[in-house]
Amino acid sequence: MDLSLEQRIALVRENIDRAAMGRTVTLVGAAKTKPPELIARAVRAGLEAIGENYVQEFRDKSAAGAYQGAAVHIIGHLQQNKVKYVAGQVDMIQSVDSPALLAAIGKRAASLGRTQDVLIEVNIGTEPGKSGVAPQALDQLLSAAGDTAGVRVRGLMAIPPAENSRAYFGAMYNLFVDIAAKKYDNVLMDFLSMGMSDDYEDAIRQGANMVRVGSFIFGPRNYI
Ligand SMILES: *Cc1c(COP(=O)(O)O)cnc(C)c1O
Repeated sequence: MDLSLEQRIALVRENIDRAAMGRTVTLVGAAKTKPPELIARAVRAGLEAIGENYVQEFRDKSAAGAYQGAAVHIIGHLQQNKVKYVAGQVDMIQSVDSPALLAAIGKRAASLGRTQDVLIEVNIGTEPGKSGVAPQALDQLLSAAGDTAGVRVRGLMAIPPAENSRAYFGAMYNLFVDIAAKKYDNVLMDFLSMGMSDDYEDAIRQGANMVRVGSFIFGPRNYI
């Protein structure tokens, strides 16, 4: 079965809608390593948001007109020295995992007169060496958001361990609900971003309302 890009996007949407049972789910196409022409074609086919991991790729593809008005989300680990290239210039930064990074983003966005929407990335499996804030450190980071101008926390993001991912998706949903009930200043729990090509339907059934799908839409990645 060899589907076109357009057919694959339509198929992912059908699968999303079936799993979502009436809830609204945002599909973010994870486009790392993929060329601007392919991304532009996906946007023309109706993909409303594009996720990029690398700041340099975002800059190059943006200059090449890849996004065609679609929302752009930074989904990869963001180094503080790259914040100036994205803060206030993308629709969402999904990978905030420290008070220092939150502050740097806020400072830059505020200097442009903007407010940057961000998600907090949670290392829900508490895996060593993986990005994301540890669940025990979440409270401190969310409390810091109240004093940070130029940013607004809109929800949570996670890349759980591949093993037993369904249980981790459930744990993320519980965190999402608990945090919403606590009503931190400047923190809204609008988005729960989890699920990728292999597990987005599971993630949605466990409560995700934003999924990041890459290889299923754009094809396998060829790293050189
Ligand atoms: C690459 C990537 C994805 C998409 O992964 P696929 O398995 O190709 O769907 C989602 N989220 C993040 C953060 C990624 O880096």
